[in-house]
Amino acid sequence: MSKIDLRPALSKMQPYTPGEQPPPGKYIKLNTNENPYPPPPSVVSALQAAASGPLNRYPDPTATAFRRAAANALGLPGPEWILAGNGSDEILTILVRAFVGEGQLLRLPYPSYILYRTLADIQGARWEQMPFLDGWHLPTAFGQGSDDLRLVLLPNPNSPSGTIVSRDEIEKLANTLPCPLVVDEAYADFAEFNCIDLVQKHENILVTRTLSKSYGLAGVRFGFLVAQPQLIKKLCNIKDSYNCDYLATIAATEAMNAQDWLADVVKKMNATRARMQLRLSELGFNVTPSQANFVWCQHPSGKHNEMYQYLKKQQILVRYMDFPDWGDGLRISVGTDDQVDACLMMLERFFQ
Ligand code: PMP
Repeated sequence: MSKIDLRPALSKMQPYTPGEQPPPGKYIKLNTNENPYPPPPSVVSALQAAASGPLNRYPDPTATAFRRAAANALGLPGPEWILAGNGSDEILTILVRAFVGEGQLLRLPYPSYILYRTLADIQGARWEQMPFLDGWHLPTAFGQGSDDLRLVLLPNPNSPSGTIVSRDEIEKLANTLPCPLVVDEAYADFAEFNCIDLVQKHENILVTRTLSKSYGLAGVRFGFLVAQPQLIKKLCNIKDSYNCDYLATIAATEAMNAQDWLADVVKKMNATRARMQLRLSELGFNVTPSQANFVWCQHPSGKHNEMYQYLKKQQILVRYMDFPDWGDGLRISVGTDDQVDACLMMLERFFQ
């Protein structure tokens, strides 16, 4: 026994490994689903002005200006439906902390966002992952409860597949589950529909959002939860006091007011995504139709790791993902047209 041993629940923890984050400039970066475009110009000027703001003071602990702007943008009754966080990862941390005690159960689909398991491990909780069925449907058991099931997490659109579960199915799940259903909508701005309005109908549907993807603000760290006010109030009691810093909150508030910019950038990226999917199919990949800002593709040759390595040598980073007992493939983020063309050209060369 050492004096600096972590508590036993953490001793066997596997780290969550996000995609590589090399210093900017060297690579065409299509590996972590960031926005290839800079954030709205109004955000940049607000940040510049904010640099001479009251940085010696703590920020508003509940980011009320942001929550007002977000409620307005999303058509929600008011700020009391929103909890702001330091990225949606922090929101997920708060939710796991709030609902899943030691030894209790958290459920997630497979393959999906691996961080959920890490959060459960940190809690000393158990997790079970249920594989998607063919066509990326959820098994019936996904909606069935057990006494110790405390939280179900569902990325929608899912990562790495980019596929989406219908609103009908989400409502059915919420009705049959004995616990909260977190619909992680990190990528929902790129999809044909979302579940924000269902939060008002079902107390156990909780929706998380991020500004890291569609708003081009991954470097700022801001995400939020949409849930019924009685729950938001309770969660405020267990979050860190000043979890959203002054500068990030200003950037996020301004971003929420830039809905026209958002619509334009999403339209542009979805057009690039369509072109990318088509070309990947022509190159022989099995391409999963995506509702997100990335594309999951698998090649019959199975040489995904080799492709990843080859692209990396050409200064193009994509994500190679290998899911035990399920399979591997490439997840390629939607970049600018030029970035995507460079990647597609190199993949073509790989097969020559
Ligand atoms: N949920 C999913 C499904 C994601 O892929 C990501 C990005 N890695 C996040 C949440 C976290 O986003 P954020 O940058 O807001 O922490």
